[in-house]
Amino acid sequence: MGAHKSISNPGLRLPAPPRAHSRADGVGRRMRLPNQAQSHRARARLRKLAASMGLVVVVLLNTGASPTEGAIPGAWTTHFVDNGGPVLRTAQVYLLYWGSHWPATGAYVPTPHQITAAFQTLVAGPYLSGLAQYRDIRPAVLRGSTVVTTSRAHSGFDDADVSEFLNVQLDAGVVPGPDPANQTLYFVILPVGISAGGYRPKFDGGHDYYTRRGQRIHFAWAADSGSLDGATWIASHELVESITDPEGTAILGASPTCEQSGWCEIADVCTDTSTINGVAVSNYWSERARACVAPDLASTIRRGDEGP
Ligand SMILES: [Zn+2]
Repeated sequence: MGAHKSISNPGLRLPAPPRAHSRADGVGRRMRLPNQAQSHRARARLRKLAASMGLVVVVLLNTGASPTEGAIPGAWTTHFVDNGGPVLRTAQVYLLYWGSHWPATGAYVPTPHQITAAFQTLVAGPYLSGLAQYRDIRPAVLRGSTVVTTSRAHSGFDDADVSEFLNVQLDAGVVPGPDPANQTLYFVILPVGISAGGYRPKFDGGHDYYTRRGQRIHFAWAADSGSLDGATWIASHELVESITDPEGTAILGASPTCEQSGWCEIADVCTDTSTINGVAVSNYWSERARACVAPDLASTIRRGDEGP
């Protein structure tokens, strides 16, 4: 690990004690979006992610123990494989703060400005450098940030609502359409107090895509942004998963990583938090390191020194 600080819980309402599983949630569930798009999504049910896997890995990293088959049941059955679907190799991110709750930011923390600044720090730093192991993915770029007050977010929203919201913003030119290579990721951030419904009412974040005029629109959303650390933790989780698996067909856990239905993405098996350049982020699975990681500058340099 690097010099970044690990903290346990940045304001997220994670359950205690952890349950003895590490799978992603909402596994295998599908829904139809209004435009008949094939909908295939990854999802984070962050409140139930305090599974044993991440905690076990952290202990091993801190003690410098080397992986030993069978030393810790379950820990070394985690594997992620590339299923060949699209990835966002050079993600172009637009942040959209959804709803008229947001401008009343006098006493509201975190403000969109704070979240955007933290997000910018996150993508500009070394955090995403660990994704290069997955098809040579490059760091994301933050292209824009806007507060949308013409639409009011409501609790109980689902992916179809987010896609409709995005369609309106795209039609109105609030955000540009996807870039020619379709590396664009629209990231919708909801105000505190607005929670998801549909088939994932306990999720604080998710990502998905839909088809608009023949183009696939990749999007993520993050709710429960009641603290800056919580907002960036959720955002980082969805960001790395959107990048490595925007359509549910790319970097995924291999059996038995996810148990049961076999659906999980690289942040779903990592529950610990790191702070990089002052920004709280979720660790994510490094298949190369066989561990949950959050690359900081120190670990990036060290890895580079080791050669290929
Ligand atoms: Zn996830």
